[in-house]
Amino acid sequence: MSAAGAGGVAALHSAPHLLPIATPPLREGAVAVRADGTIAAVGPRAELRAAYPSLPERRWEGTLLPGLVNAHTHLQYTDLAEVGAREHDGFEAWCAAFDARYPQADPDGWGDAARRGLELSLRAGVTCFGDVVTDDAARDVLRDAGVAGIAFLETLGDDDAGWAAGGRDRYLARLDAAGANVAGAGGGLAAGGAGAASACFGVSPHAPYSVDGAVLADLGRIARDCGLRLHVHLAESQLEHELVEAGSGRLAQLVAEWGWSLALLDDPAGVSPARYLDARLALGPDCHVAHGVALDADDRALLRERGCAVALCLRSNRTIGVEEPPLAAYLRERSPLCVGTDSLASAPSLDLLGELPPLRALAREQGYRDGDLDARLLHAATAGGAAALGLAHRLGGPGTGAGARSIPGVGVLASGARADLAHLAVRPLEGESPEHAVVTRGVSACTATVVAGAVHTWG
Ligand SMILES: [Zn+2]
Repeated sequence: MSAAGAGGVAALHSAPHLLPIATPPLREGAVAVRADGTIAAVGPRAELRAAYPSLPERRWEGTLLPGLVNAHTHLQYTDLAEVGAREHDGFEAWCAAFDARYPQADPDGWGDAARRGLELSLRAGVTCFGDVVTDDAARDVLRDAGVAGIAFLETLGDDDAGWAAGGRDRYLARLDAAGANVAGAGGGLAAGGAGAASACFGVSPHAPYSVDGAVLADLGRIARDCGLRLHVHLAESQLEHELVEAGSGRLAQLVAEWGWSLALLDDPAGVSPARYLDARLALGPDCHVAHGVALDADDRALLRERGCAVALCLRSNRTIGVEEPPLAAYLRERSPLCVGTDSLASAPSLDLLGELPPLRALAREQGYRDGDLDARLLHAATAGGAAALGLAHRLGGPGTGAGARSIPGVGVLASGARADLAHLAVRPLEGESPEHAVVTRGVSACTATVVAGAVHTWG
């Protein structure tokens, strides 16, 4: 049987340890990859060798798993690593450090920085991204590189008056330039590029405290009218509660200092940031939030009811000096979880696996004792992230939302999924589970990354 004769199957990747995520770990497993960059089959190496006897085999010593999903990052801030390398004394202190370094002079530089961030991420086995784009010079980096993910076009500081007086039109023009079909959003603009391109972009109101309530509601409508997903920072610190519930506190002062005349300052919502966001934006499974640190049991229940996943960014929380997420509660309550690094402006690296040891330790500190912890964390860093972005693999077509049908699912090794893989030079010790080996020793261990079947090796 020739490779072409085997239904376009072009290569076999095998390893002593295979973690498909969708199915149990395999000893001596293999993945058959089609020429079109999708997975043809996953199974025991011996079986796949027999099925495809003439295929070239790429033998990896260590562990193969799906490419990782960084569900919350800002690749354009890669050059602000000096801010993220320091520890800050809370949100205000970090904002001051960030604002001092936010370069104003070189708008084209954001694209180059994002490309550097993408390269660092690929070297860490990350192949899918929830990337927040504030400056559109960084907008097309994922699409141009051919990696999976969504570039969420962020907006912040929008008050009702400014939105009506041109802000809305400018935002629709950004979406239109990205190739989203904004004709249905009542913007009066011509339809944009192909529908498939829409899947690459999303809508991101920065946070409930940085965009006026009517603007949040409008952005929710725009996203749904255009068939785009939503992503929002939510409850990154307790400061958000004072502002949203009572219109007071240090964050309210900061917002006023930044010159944002938000209605919340004079007319506070009287409810938690999560409830406020839900009332305005309408949370749902087409939206995921970043951080979710200051959420109580009622807020967490609300997010679960809405099917809204939380992207945990623990190293960023610690760098900034805010509280820590209620991880054990999230795990016990079976909240949909994913993992993000946030940007290098608040995290030490874009190596997503670097998030897992501190998350593991935090869950144990908070009293989570179940034996599934390693598998749950690894799921969050792969299939959980894919689900949060609407890019999960499932039979009959991946994901939800416009254009998702044209993108094979990610986050698992399974027939039909996109052939995105990470190889780690990690082997479980005697009696150790492969999930534990990856969670505890996966950081800096990536030696090769496969993107839609194309192999990149890191020397
Ligand atoms: Zn962020």
